[in-house]
Amino acid sequence: MTISRILIANRGEIALRIHRAAHEMGIETVAVHSTADSDAMHVRLADHAVCIGPPSATDSYLNIANIISAAEIAQADAIHPGYGFLSENAKFAEIVEAHDIKWIGPKPEHIRTMGDKVEAKRTAGKLGLPLVPGSDGAVSEIEEARKIASEIGYPVIIKAASGGGGRGMKVCESEDQLETLMQQAGSEAKAAFGDATVYIEKYLGNPRHIEFQVFGDGEGNAIHLGERDCSLQRRHQKVLEEAPSPVISEEDRMRMGEVCSKAMRDMGYRGAGTIEFLWENGEFYFIEMNTRLQVEHPVTEAITGVDLVREQIRIAAGKPLSVAQEDIEFKGHAIECRINAEDPFTFAPSPGKVTYYHPAGGMHVRVDSGLYAGYSIPPYYDSMIAKLIVYGRNREGCMMRLKRALEEMVVEGVKTSIPLHQALLEQEDVQTGNYSIKWLEDWLKERE
Ligand code: ADP
Repeated sequence: MTISRILIANRGEIALRIHRAAHEMGIETVAVHSTADSDAMHVRLADHAVCIGPPSATDSYLNIANIISAAEIAQADAIHPGYGFLSENAKFAEIVEAHDIKWIGPKPEHIRTMGDKVEAKRTAGKLGLPLVPGSDGAVSEIEEARKIASEIGYPVIIKAASGGGGRGMKVCESEDQLETLMQQAGSEAKAAFGDATVYIEKYLGNPRHIEFQVFGDGEGNAIHLGERDCSLQRRHQKVLEEAPSPVISEEDRMRMGEVCSKAMRDMGYRGAGTIEFLWENGEFYFIEMNTRLQVEHPVTEAITGVDLVREQIRIAAGKPLSVAQEDIEFKGHAIECRINAEDPFTFAPSPGKVTYYHPAGGMHVRVDSGLYAGYSIPPYYDSMIAKLIVYGRNREGCMMRLKRALEEMVVEGVKTSIPLHQALLEQEDVQTGNYSIKWLEDWLKERE
């Protein structure tokens, strides 16, 4: 089995990332794009390009029929979905495979299981992952919700089974709010995800977000590539990520890493995955698993030297894992800043024409971005326009280099979150790694 032409069912920096891995492997690429993205960098660089629809993602990047037609027309023998859009759509994965096109992703049944957070939690529990205390499955009756909430203790968090991207969650402080919030959560989940199913779990007071990168070959072999700390978040969305976590010991890394990779071996998991935990008082609590490549995967690449996209392509082509667990060494420290086209402090979106662009450079500096001078950032999609990833031999060196790299990075014509990252690096808590998932929002509130 070989792959000779990959259709990239995505846009922006991740489409470029996939294109680069493919070309380094001697594989051709097919870009699919909306009419709003005809001038995008990945479209320019790809070997073939097919327009799949108007700007609205529903009509283009989420349009399964058009993407499959594009794959047939361009004779692609594999599809890489990137992250977001159709990457965790089990039906899409099945349709791709039914067309005899290789799906560069996990087995559809695993995407389906992990995409339903209730099912995911149940599966994770069976596989021996430690869970956040909460309901054993979906909760629909208010009486049952009351009982569970009083057992685990307030505050609790009501979550949509089909939620994602930090949406579909409600924190409930006390019993008198429970009924209203349950109803709200249910109807909002129905409107946003077409599924009103909700479940309840303990709302942890001040945890960190720690996630493990895993990789399986689909035949019962799996490895882990350590953890990433993604605790700096706003509205449950990650802003800056680092690897390794400043608080996880070597011993915990190897112990939890093994728990995760064993779970993946037992599942027969295929491809890249991320197992997300909240971490509080030295304990890990599983919250969800993402069955795709993550935005923040480059920090893991920086400290392990493993190209995760190349690995995904190899696995999809039926090759074995290129590294064994004992070959993986964690060296140095890496931090990624997500750079968005938005006001750095009000977060108002700022699409438009980039009049000047100069990416940072130098030793151990990586910029993943489709930006160029003259490019117009369309208003229709995610506001992330670049990722700045910096490596250092240790955390302190990495932070110094990151500060230097942020100074160099120039994006003119639109507002960006670069000043936010610069301000963050000045904070002592960020410098020492002393932050939880609440830290950024508290800090932003103080600044107001
Ligand atoms: P999504 O799929 O929308 O990303 P997650 O379940 O991964 O949802 O949760 C996203 C974020 O929400 C977490 O990183 C954390 O900040 C917060 N969160 C989720 N569950 C809890 C919980 N039980 N207690 C406290 N915070 C939580």
